[in-house]
Amino acid sequence: MPGPRLGLCRATTPAPAQSAPRTVRRAPPPAHDAYAARDTGESGGSQGKENATVSTPRSAVVVGAGIVGLATAWALQSRGVEVTVAERRRPAAGASWGNAGWLTPALAMPLPEPAALRYGVRSLVTPTSPVYIPPRADPRLARFLLSFTRHCTPRRWRVLATTFAALNRQALAAYDDLAAGGVQEPTVPVDPMLLAFGTAAERAGMVEELEHARAAGYEIPYETIDGDRARFLEPVLSDAVGAGIALHGQRRLNPGNFVRALADAVRERGGKVVEQADVSGIRDLGTGVAVGTSQGDLRADVAVVSTGTWLNRLVRPFGVRVPVQSGRGYSFSVPAAGAPARPTYLAGQKVVCTPLGDGRVRVAGMMELAPPERPVDPRRIQAIIAAARPLLRDVDWDARTDEWVGSRPCTADGLPLVGPTASPRVYVNGGHGMWGVALGPLTGRLLADAIATGTAPAELAALHPLR
Ligand SMILES: Cc1cc2nc3c(=O)[nH]c(=O)nc-3n(C[C@H](O)[C@H](O)[C@H](O)COP(=O)(O)OP(=O)(O)OC[C@H]3O[C@@H](n4cnc5c(N)ncnc54)[C@H](O)[C@@H]3O)c2cc1C
Repeated sequence: MPGPRLGLCRATTPAPAQSAPRTVRRAPPPAHDAYAARDTGESGGSQGKENATVSTPRSAVVVGAGIVGLATAWALQSRGVEVTVAERRRPAAGASWGNAGWLTPALAMPLPEPAALRYGVRSLVTPTSPVYIPPRADPRLARFLLSFTRHCTPRRWRVLATTFAALNRQALAAYDDLAAGGVQEPTVPVDPMLLAFGTAAERAGMVEELEHARAAGYEIPYETIDGDRARFLEPVLSDAVGAGIALHGQRRLNPGNFVRALADAVRERGGKVVEQADVSGIRDLGTGVAVGTSQGDLRADVAVVSTGTWLNRLVRPFGVRVPVQSGRGYSFSVPAAGAPARPTYLAGQKVVCTPLGDGRVRVAGMMELAPPERPVDPRRIQAIIAAARPLLRDVDWDARTDEWVGSRPCTADGLPLVGPTASPRVYVNGGHGMWGVALGPLTGRLLADAIATGTAPAELAALHPLR
């Protein structure tokens, strides 16, 4: 599990005036559908326009070169759309670099859960807790937490989990599409991944959650194992591990390498990835968009905003009100010798270990609700080490490198924001929280389908950005 649950509670692509949109027939749009309004310049819904025509855009600017933005750009290219990606720094400059690289749809669950409320009260008063909210007066954070707690009911969890389950079942196939389409960096099947617990009693809560998830439609091939079997699978575990879960059929990846390979693939397919292009705003011109960047305007038929935890500023003018809260997580890497050779989650400590395939093992953890621009807090790194040390016998903690902090883009209901805005030319793909690696390529594919065809796949209904 890639880090703790929250526990609380372009110049440019061709100008649109010169483009000659292709036309496709479309099915009747669902409620909320703004995909079809592009041709007429309408803002908002288009219900009742049966068999109306919608043009596939010829060009798109995607803002943000993380896993989500680049996967969206790649999927749009597959549907014949010319793409330019505008990135204020470089590919994988955000959360998509130092994350744990768990490609584990079996574990991608909603962030709000009934048990979170109990845990959160403790986290508020314990600075070394894996879930930490630095005390400060922040009305925006208060609103987020209030909304989050409203989603922490068993009934709401079931609804959210059912939505996730429909997405999770397609997550690995979306990666297979990328591989078949030439993305060079591999995803690595791991059988099994390991979840380690102090005792079987500590494991019980996780087993209960997995069974609830199965009931909601998840595919979770797992077995419970004892401490000896866990040590057989992962010999560096100490005797403090008394129980485990062996999780089958999942994968891992090296996040930084994967996102750079995805950027390379977008370029090789004729797209542009413009680095050091800080986007200040987007204008709907009626026939296309102008994306204002520090390198000048980029023009295209449509824009997709995928700026991770920085999502709100660019899409608020287009009616997107759902707050995206920064859930900061920390990571560093240690030499592979003495560290887990398979992805291992120290569940009680909420620490994840992932071999990167380059002689290092990434160690990741923490959920800190604080602004994304703050630097690495060394105390958080020390807290991860203190928590993990008793369970891992031979890790050379002093040889750690790549200390990093990044922000999970969290929504209060745990669901990403994927779809249209109040402008028929501006789309969103973001807010994947703890699961942008697992679900980014899939939501990129679904959104590209919706933009290209004018018909939103059913899976996107619950992810509507204007919810
Ligand atoms: C410690 C940790 C461990 C994690 N482990 C996992 C895991 O194992 N599995 C998993 O599925 N998920 C994991 N996650 C979550 C995952 O990392 C995120 O969900 C995912 O990376 C979000 O991707 P993104 O593309 O939306 O955002 P980002 O990767 O943050 O990308 C956003 C990009 O937008 C750019 N940008 C922002 N504003 C502008 C602007 N105005 N103009 C131009 N560019 C802009 C940024 O520079 C950045 O490059 C983890 C997260 C953390 C912190």
